[in-house]
Amino acid sequence: MDFASTITALTPSWISVFVLLSFFAYLAIVGSVLLGKLVAGVTLPDGAQIQYTCNGLKLLILLVGLLGIGVALNLISPTVIANRGLELLSVTFLFSIVVTLLLYVAGCMSRDQSSSLKPHISGNFIHDWWFGIQLNPHFAGIDLKFFFVRAGMMGWLLINLSILAKSLQDKSLDTSMILYQLFVSFYILDYFFYEEYMTSTWDIIAERLGFMLVFGDLVWIPFTFSIQGWWLLSNKVELTTAAAIANCLVFLIGYCVFRGANKQKHIFKKNPKALIWGRPPKVIGGKLLASGYWGMARHCNYLGDLLLALSFSLPCGASSPVPYFYPIYLFILLIWRERRDEARCSEKYKEIWAEYCKFVPWRILPYVY
Ligand code: NDP
Repeated sequence: MDFASTITALTPSWISVFVLLSFFAYLAIVGSVLLGKLVAGVTLPDGAQIQYTCNGLKLLILLVGLLGIGVALNLISPTVIANRGLELLSVTFLFSIVVTLLLYVAGCMSRDQSSSLKPHISGNFIHDWWFGIQLNPHFAGIDLKFFFVRAGMMGWLLINLSILAKSLQDKSLDTSMILYQLFVSFYILDYFFYEEYMTSTWDIIAERLGFMLVFGDLVWIPFTFSIQGWWLLSNKVELTTAAAIANCLVFLIGYCVFRGANKQKHIFKKNPKALIWGRPPKVIGGKLLASGYWGMARHCNYLGDLLLALSFSLPCGASSPVPYFYPIYLFILLIWRERRDEARCSEKYKEIWAEYCKFVPWRILPYVY
């Protein structure tokens, strides 16, 4: 694609604005009325707890069902996203800028002193806009941080489904595309099945809502994590049976480690006496789990996620580094995040954390790192 046609493809049309706003309207309206498990978030420094309605899975299945009906009735083109990928990207990017400027202004005007809404203003506008000034801003009763991460994960699936429709239309569907679609769809559905675990993750409890997070959720997750799918649309890969089986194994091992580690921590936080792998857990200082995956490395969950990310790219073979963007990016992100989380935990748990580090010396990959 030359420069002029790239600019044309990036120029937003009213159709892409409509697609994006309809998606957000659906998530806001249906997400507010659909019943779901009520989950109390972590306790904030002022003792308050945010209540999250974890209805993401129902919301997603209903959305896909409604879109399916729309496609069957010829009201919606299944390839609308795949055909307008670049302009949807630029509309979402512009939306992220506008919404975070509004968040900045609303935060500055807020007089709320509760710990999740008290604005942290450094005086440096770029810094405050980029990192955000409030931890958990709300709009019309909706927790915006939870809303945006949900939109990003669902957007990723919608993009992939549209890519799948395009490959069916082009008659180019092959094993690579099927494996990629299966792995990512499973990962996203699983994410929403365990949506309540999200309420205790770093982004929700520690990161303020600014451009960095909104851009990450709305633009980065759906558009760059689907690079493999876009790439497979225009590149043919001959995957051997052995390679496909090895690919499935990487996915399965990654999933077991990722889900197992996150589940063990989540269960431990609810009930510190719950059995881990059938045995009473080893607990350090009454607060830190040192059994199961958390006794093998301090962030085994990151290892599982990295294996999963690799499994999403392996269907693309080894002819190009482009489809490996996601695992490479995630590797850098999680190494950096592990260091930040380590600093946070060291500050929070002090000597207990030091004891945990002595007991579990490995950060992510046992015996290597
Ligand atoms: P974690 O879920 O690992 O949460 C870290 C927190 O858990 C710590 O701050 C601490 O918080 C608590 N903790 C750490 N060690 C222990 C322990 N031994 N016992 C009890 N509590 C402990 O981090 P993230 O939120 O970063 O990651 C969650 C998942 O999301 C991961 O699987 C990660 O791979 C994935 N992820 C995916 C990304 C992507 O782009 N695909 C990006 C980022 C994350 P506390 O104060 O509560 O004790």
